[in-house]
Amino acid sequence: MKIIVGGGIAGLWLALECQSRGIACCVLEQGALGQAQTLASQGMIHGGTKYALDGVLSQAATVIGAMPSRWLDALAGRGSVNLAGVQLHRSDQLLWSTDSLKSQLVGFFASKAMASRMQRIHPDDEPGFGDAGFRGMLYRLNEPVIDVASCLSVMSEQLHGCIFQAQVQSLVWQGDRVIGVETDGGRLDGDTVILTAGEGTEALLADSPHQDIRMQRRPLAMVAARLVHPTIPIFGHHIGFGSKPKLTVSTHHAAAHQTLYLGGQLAEDGVNLSDDAQITQGIEALQTSIGWRQFDIIDLSVIRVTRAEPATGQGHRPDTAAVFPRKGLIVAWPTKLALAPALADDVLAIFQGQETATQRPAWSTPGIGQYPWH
Ligand SMILES: Cc1cc2nc3c(=O)[nH]c(=O)nc-3n(C[C@H](O)[C@H](O)[C@H](O)COP(=O)(O)OP(=O)(O)OC[C@H]3O[C@@H](n4cnc5c(N)ncnc54)[C@H](O)[C@@H]3O)c2cc1C
Repeated sequence: MKIIVGGGIAGLWLALECQSRGIACCVLEQGALGQAQTLASQGMIHGGTKYALDGVLSQAATVIGAMPSRWLDALAGRGSVNLAGVQLHRSDQLLWSTDSLKSQLVGFFASKAMASRMQRIHPDDEPGFGDAGFRGMLYRLNEPVIDVASCLSVMSEQLHGCIFQAQVQSLVWQGDRVIGVETDGGRLDGDTVILTAGEGTEALLADSPHQDIRMQRRPLAMVAARLVHPTIPIFGHHIGFGSKPKLTVSTHHAAAHQTLYLGGQLAEDGVNLSDDAQITQGIEALQTSIGWRQFDIIDLSVIRVTRAEPATGQGHRPDTAAVFPRKGLIVAWPTKLALAPALADDVLAIFQGQETATQRPAWSTPGIGQYPWH
């Protein structure tokens, strides 16, 4: 049996791929499903356009390019993972530049590099833009945005009887091979242990002989703005002068209010600021990036989340999902929600031929986590 440690998007997608191939597996989750990075994400299934803002189609853009259609197939109930029933916020994302020349040039070069997946549209064709006084260039990207909680819910239903509440405390070794895990509920043996535990993977590898597998943390300081009145939802990126979006916005409903969830460069730059200072930056970013719209804001808060990824040396963003196979052990980080299918493909390619039958534990099932802006 395959033991998958961590019930975020990576572990759950992999478990569904195993299930569809008749490979016995179980997922062990210490808290609630998705509670770490997955539910803190903006749900954007990137196809790489934001990696082509400098007009160069990087390796990252090429690898991730296949992910939107992979997810759309799953959402339509086609393919090995069936996500029919997951709520789609939008089937596309927007990308806009302001009226500054530099910002417009960034959009122009990106549209050349990603011509097949990025169309320029007239602002009048997009509610909340032309009619509201937007001046600049507007593009539509063929990259969907999903409601992450509904995705976790659909996945968890399909994996009924395969997901268990357990905190893995250590790996069980036989010589240089991993043969199982020690948990707060007891020991569980399997033929392969797959660590998709996000930030938790680092502690599980601390005493292992595999010190070559190293993790990096890239923190974010997201800003959540709760609104008095519902507004036309926005899912997209304002491009500035650089190779990263100045602001990435997604819109969510929580407890009778709508929330604008603000990331992109704002969240990267704000990690060393106090909450008050970051909230000020968030208000300025709304003004600079979506200044043609008026928002009645009840309150703003800062949501600090750490991205856990394989170390890249200089702390840069890794290009694609990372999978490290060792004896009886596979260590994996998707590095993006969108890349969960790519991670599962790489892990499945390693499995071939190894399988032992083991009984699943009789532990309880974890619930689904909550969005951090609740
Ligand atoms: C603010 C933010 C916004 C983002 N937006 C996007 C986006 O729009 N699009 C995109 O593609 N990507 C986005 N990402 C990246 C994406 O969220 C992550 O790459 C992805 O969710 C990682 O999934 P995961 O399953 O590897 O990790 P996680 O979601 O962190 O899950 C790991 C799980 O392992 C469990 N665990 C840890 N240790 C143990 C243990 N010892 N025993 C048992 N369980 C354990 C944890 O409780 C957790 O549930 C964003 C990330 C952040 C932080």
